[in-house]
Amino acid sequence: MSHMFVPGPVDVDQDVLEAQTKPMIPHRSAEFETIFRGTEAKLKKVFLTENRVFQPPSSGTGMQEAGIRNLVQKDVLSCVNGAFAERWYQVAVTNGKQADRLEAEWGDIISPDKLADALKAKNYEAVTIVHNETSTGVENPIKELAAVVHEVSPDTLILIDAVSSLAGAKIETDAWGLDFVLTSSQKALALPPGMSFAAVTDRCLERAEKVENRGWYFDLLRMEKHRIKNSTAMTPSMSLIWALDVELDKILAEGLENRFARHQAMAERVQTWAVEHGMEPLAPQGYRSKTVSTIKNLRGVDIAALNEFLLTKGMRLSNGYGDLKNKTFRIAHMGETKMHHVDELLEAFEAFMEKM
Ligand SMILES: *Cc1c(COP(=O)(O)O)cnc(C)c1O
Repeated sequence: MSHMFVPGPVDVDQDVLEAQTKPMIPHRSAEFETIFRGTEAKLKKVFLTENRVFQPPSSGTGMQEAGIRNLVQKDVLSCVNGAFAERWYQVAVTNGKQADRLEAEWGDIISPDKLADALKAKNYEAVTIVHNETSTGVENPIKELAAVVHEVSPDTLILIDAVSSLAGAKIETDAWGLDFVLTSSQKALALPPGMSFAAVTDRCLERAEKVENRGWYFDLLRMEKHRIKNSTAMTPSMSLIWALDVELDKILAEGLENRFARHQAMAERVQTWAVEHGMEPLAPQGYRSKTVSTIKNLRGVDIAALNEFLLTKGMRLSNGYGDLKNKTFRIAHMGETKMHHVDELLEAFEAFMEKM
């Protein structure tokens, strides 16, 4: 077996990889537009939304920037409890926005009560929250956090980064009233890197009309103008779209609920195993990611040596992120990773520890 347990890019199934070898066609053609309309329709099912879904060429960070540039003229509240939330804050600052931080320790969740207090203290055009913090393995309680925004500050737009969770954990875009939900191709969607996706409400587009300096590439109003013609303003990432079409069919054939249950079962397996072997997840019970487990390295495992050993068996996992390096390690269980892959990894991990 060869399998990567790193949180992106993840393994891509062979048939999905092969779909990319289909010949190029003109993107201003009925043939392309039909496929592109089809992938949007399937994406809407995965995003659990009736909203439009944009599918531009860019990584997920591009969509973080799109959200900021289009939906914030000045004031944004950045919820920061990990590396990717920190990045989104930096995106806001470097685009010249007035970004305030609502912080929690790495490993903790963003507290709904603290969010309510922050929204009462100041008017924000938008709030940014990462659903699944890939650095810490924390899943923020988006449903509760969104409910707070709707109650305390209903005009504040809710921007969600679901890069490492969408299609692996349930995110009810419409039912929870989320305005802007973004993801990347190379994580729980199990595609090669290079595309981003965002489900965007009408109210976002209305807001964007009043925001200056939205730029060109990520201007949501320009994207919308082309989307309604089943296209993009720039050249679309055609090979990835062929792959996307095949992967979305696989996701929908598995069934979303089955897919969420599979991810949850893998997360429970890894997290229970960690406790049984004298370690524990960094995230508190009830808020543990379903797609990536960040485990405290309480056994003092040499992560680099472990990975060398795993590589001899065609596997690899991830060290901790940033300051959490060697203090934690991360096992991603997302996309097309199955329980038998996880079992094989944990077996090898145990064999390594027995020799320590
Ligand atoms: C990987 C990741 C990103 C960055 O996505 P890119 O596609 O690499 O730009 C952002 N947010 C989260 C939560 C991630 O896991």
